[in-house]
Amino acid sequence: MDRVPGAAPAALEQHDIAVDIGGTSWLVGRWNGELQILGHGLVSARPAGTVTEIAAALALAGANADQGGPAGPVGTAAPRTAGCSFAGAVDRSGRVEAWPSRPSWVGFPLRTALAAALRGTADRPGAPGQPGVPSRPGAPGQPSAPNQAGAPNQASAPNQPGASGQPGVPNRPGASGRHGPAEPAVSIEDDGYCAALGESRLGVARGLADHLTLTLGTGIGGAWTVAGQVRRPVAAGARTIGHLRALDQHRVCRCGAAGCLQTVLADLPGAAAGGDPPGWAEGGWAAGGWAAGRRFVEVVADLAQATGVATVVLTGGLTGLRWLAGYLRDGFGAEGVTCLIPRRGDRSSLLGATIRSA
Ligand SMILES: [Zn+2]
Repeated sequence: MDRVPGAAPAALEQHDIAVDIGGTSWLVGRWNGELQILGHGLVSARPAGTVTEIAAALALAGANADQGGPAGPVGTAAPRTAGCSFAGAVDRSGRVEAWPSRPSWVGFPLRTALAAALRGTADRPGAPGQPGVPSRPGAPGQPSAPNQAGAPNQASAPNQPGASGQPGVPNRPGASGRHGPAEPAVSIEDDGYCAALGESRLGVARGLADHLTLTLGTGIGGAWTVAGQVRRPVAAGARTIGHLRALDQHRVCRCGAAGCLQTVLADLPGAAAGGDPPGWAEGGWAAGGWAAGRRFVEVVADLAQATGVATVVLTGGLTGLRWLAGYLRDGFGAEGVTCLIPRRGDRSSLLGATIRSA
């Protein structure tokens, strides 16, 4: 694995607030020398309700900060910039234009709604009891704790100048508040891109020249990093690598096509609940069970061979399933592909969403 010299994270600029909206759950946090989680919850079919919950969690985090919790932009000033990792696709105006996993979100003005909601987080210090809003009082900085055996130790957090107070942050035209704080500039990015960016700059793939990052969650997303540059998928209505038509045609994807790569995960909910995936045999990869899983590994290994990018970084909530992580690590190893899995793969997209400029 070639590491790119000089890809120093110290050069990064960070958003005041980061939001990750996935098919199943959302997270809000910020970078403050390490990744801090400020709130989390479940994504619902009602986008406005989800955004309201996100804002309420931030307001609550701000209230906690005022009472001696972690200091920073939350609670003391409105966030001026926010990064959002999103599993669907938005158009130029930040309106959701496609999301096979959550069709009810299509048409929702996500950027506008987030900007308006985040503006309110600073001037509601009390944030009177919003029920059901998960807060994490007194849970300051959970370190993003990158590492996995095989990856170099990244013990020292890169020196960030406090994440607040970056001069010259352009607010979008017309975004200035008529009363109170201005709306933050919200930048929405593909979640696979965010995961790759986060792990590439601040996580297990830090400094690694070439890798393919995959997000394993409600669907499969991802992005390639080539020569140290994280590549954005071409805008194709949320159809990223998970919709590569590479598996058995009898598996119909949420997008309507058959055989999409992400249909490998279709059988997993049972496994997540403690059972085994269909066709599973004791012994994991070596025992030859789970035909769809094997095919998935083979397809990704073929891509690695064809592109010359022989490292895959696995992220997303499903990497927390120990049997799945073990199976894939063994499988990729057998195929000659280096497999890196961050300790908190469920936070990789949020990690990337904290990065304003890379
Ligand atoms: Zn599909």
